[in-house]
Amino acid sequence: MIPQLEVVAARAARLAPPPHAVASLAADLRRELGADRVSTVESARRAASNDYAHLSPVLSAVLPAKAADVVVYPRSAEELRAAVALAYEHAVPIVPRGKGTGNYGQAVPLAAGLVIDLSGMDSVLEMGEGWIRAEAGTSFVALEAAAKRVGQEVAMLPTTVGSTIGGFLAGGAGGMGSIEHGWLWEGFALTLDVVTPMGPLTLHGAQCVPYLHAYGVNGIIAVATVRLAPLRSRTAVMASYESFEAAVHTGQRLLERRPAPRLVSIDDPGLAALYPLPTEGRYSLRAAVDDSAVDDFRAAVEADGGRVDSVDPDGIGYLSTLAFNHVTLRARKVRPDLCHLQVGGDVLVRDPDAVRSVLPGSLLHLDGFRHGFGGLLLSSFQDTRTLYDGIDQLREMGVFVVDPHTWMLGGQALPAIRETAVTNDPKGLLNPGKLPA
Ligand SMILES: Cc1cc2nc3c(=O)[nH]c(=O)nc-3n(C[C@H](O)[C@H](O)[C@H](O)COP(=O)(O)OP(=O)(O)OC[C@H]3O[C@@H](n4cnc5c(N)ncnc54)[C@H](O)[C@@H]3O)c2cc1C
Repeated sequence: MIPQLEVVAARAARLAPPPHAVASLAADLRRELGADRVSTVESARRAASNDYAHLSPVLSAVLPAKAADVVVYPRSAEELRAAVALAYEHAVPIVPRGKGTGNYGQAVPLAAGLVIDLSGMDSVLEMGEGWIRAEAGTSFVALEAAAKRVGQEVAMLPTTVGSTIGGFLAGGAGGMGSIEHGWLWEGFALTLDVVTPMGPLTLHGAQCVPYLHAYGVNGIIAVATVRLAPLRSRTAVMASYESFEAAVHTGQRLLERRPAPRLVSIDDPGLAALYPLPTEGRYSLRAAVDDSAVDDFRAAVEADGGRVDSVDPDGIGYLSTLAFNHVTLRARKVRPDLCHLQVGGDVLVRDPDAVRSVLPGSLLHLDGFRHGFGGLLLSSFQDTRTLYDGIDQLREMGVFVVDPHTWMLGGQALPAIRETAVTNDPKGLLNPGKLPA
């Protein structure tokens, strides 16, 4: 079903605060936090009001060009609490923001109001064996650097390594490390300190789940403790194949290997041709494997009739920019007509031609996960109706489709997200328009 996003946006816009409420809030924020923590300058408001929704032709067409009225830049949990309390007092909508790299429009303030830019809350607070505790605005670059100093690494991270831990927990799903550690709601978040209009909460283990991938509608993560793993040294390996089946065969052997690779990706030749890769019209397989697994990788590629194209101990960073949604970003730079769907299920490897036949000019990209391959189906965008008819057909054939062309929350955790949102945010001011009615 095509989500009625214009209707949702119009409903959310009715919560837009009147000018006097905005002016009083801005004055109060300046008084409590200091003038340097607050901006009403148009360029700052616009910069804080977008994300990577432009990767979707559907979202680009329906996202309102609204900007926040005020942006606040807290530097501590106390300042964050004060900003939330003041916004609530003035009945001004609140949208938390990390680095704005989410790609569903989930950080876009549909009702204008206050954007809380958390990127200045960026301190690593504490580390121990298997965990790191940091403020929500800390980037993955900083987390990895801190963990590395004590012989550890972040268990999982998105390919947008400059993004924030709070934004990933509230807006992401998984990434490098997900073959070994699963999705971010599968034990990655150990504790969360969450600021809500009704007061602060400290959540442990399973209690964190309703706050993960919840777009901040039930609270704002101030501090997170997440899982670390022992540091391992890896090499970037690339191979190419005449057939998809052969590439998948090697890929599946890599997924079964222990220790698991941090990343395994496969692309159709039509996609590989859009990146700088030496595949020459063949299917591309790439992986971040432990240094000790390089010889096994070579043997597996040769046994499957493939060709090893490169082995590079310094190539992991580059590989990560050819995985997950970096694929959409890269592909659309060369072919702006392409439009992505997030797909999963065995049928992707069992009957890839059937999957490719549903939408015009489809190209398949796979990434490894704990239970097999998922990935992206890129096709030539015709119109919204054709795309959603395609989604229906794909689901009928057993493809698991996550719709990346909506900012509305969904999924199994939705009832728990809604329940906590009702308790924590009785006025419905946290990121309005993202929680389905
Ligand atoms: C090229 C590209 C590649 C990507 N690759 C991956 C990937 O590998 N894996 C993946 O999971 N995602 C991926 N993403 C999506 C996104 O980059 C990540 O999820 C990223 O970690 C989001 O962090 P951010 O700081 O940019 O969050 P933002 O985009 O700023 O925010 C994301 C959402 O969380 C809310 N939010 C932000 N901070 C908080 C907080 N402290 N408390 C509560 N709510 C908050 C925002 O309101 C918004 O709804 C990719 C996106 C792009 C464009």
